[in-house]
Amino acid sequence: NRRPVIAGNWKMFKTVSEAEDYAVKFLDEVKDVTDLDIVLCAPFTALHALKNELEESIVHIGAQNMAWADQGAYTGEISAQMLLDVACTYVIIGHSERREMFGETDQEIAKKVQQAIAVGLTPILCCGENLNLREEGQAVERVQGQVSRALSGLSIEDLSRIIVAYEPIWAIGTGKTASSQDAQEMCAAIRATLTELMGPTAEKVPILYGGSVKAENIGELMKEPDVDGALVGGASLDPLSFAKLIKNAG
Ligand code: 13P
Repeated sequence: NRRPVIAGNWKMFKTVSEAEDYAVKFLDEVKDVTDLDIVLCAPFTALHALKNELEESIVHIGAQNMAWADQGAYTGEISAQMLLDVACTYVIIGHSERREMFGETDQEIAKKVQQAIAVGLTPILCCGENLNLREEGQAVERVQGQVSRALSGLSIEDLSRIIVAYEPIWAIGTGKTASSQDAQEMCAAIRATLTELMGPTAEKVPILYGGSVKAENIGELMKEPDVDGALVGGASLDPLSFAKLIKNAG
């Protein structure tokens, strides 16, 4: 009874004209989809173009990062208000690429989640372990720790507005998907942590899986009880194949 969510993360791909072209083709393919929420998380520079093409359509617009501050002398940063201004309703926070390559800490991620909720954006909080931790049997501990550090200090009402995405780093862009069983185990462990933080309302939080999700494997993943959708990188870059993945998820 949780509504599934399929979110595309374009990462650092697509110019304005490519985004416009994509939006037209994609909307045409998915306009009759009613059984899940669709989100496109685009680079900042493409968001205004997506607003023009998709605002008030069934395709929701998301960003891939944002600042924890309201406004001010923060050169190079983009605020939550600026995202609202270009019709964003979602924002990815704490993607492993930001944690690993740009040094984002759990503390900053927690502040960003709070800021997103404060302005009414839905944060898609990312978590996930690397291969070393998985092989050492530390994966569950790491992921549960990431989730509780990002969400500590939020009220139950605030917590009920988040989405969590489990993305094992070893499965991102590698073609190695976690088995449906591995994905289910970790998503259930995340839900257990959410239950500690927020009680039974944790049953309402969508938990997504990400890492080499494609049209061919989404069906299997969606059968798992705690996997409520996917965060899709590479396979979201082509509008027709992403639309096909979405239809296979429903
Ligand atoms: P891929 O789907 O390309 O493996 O990327 C997953 C991801 O990082 C989505 O945020």
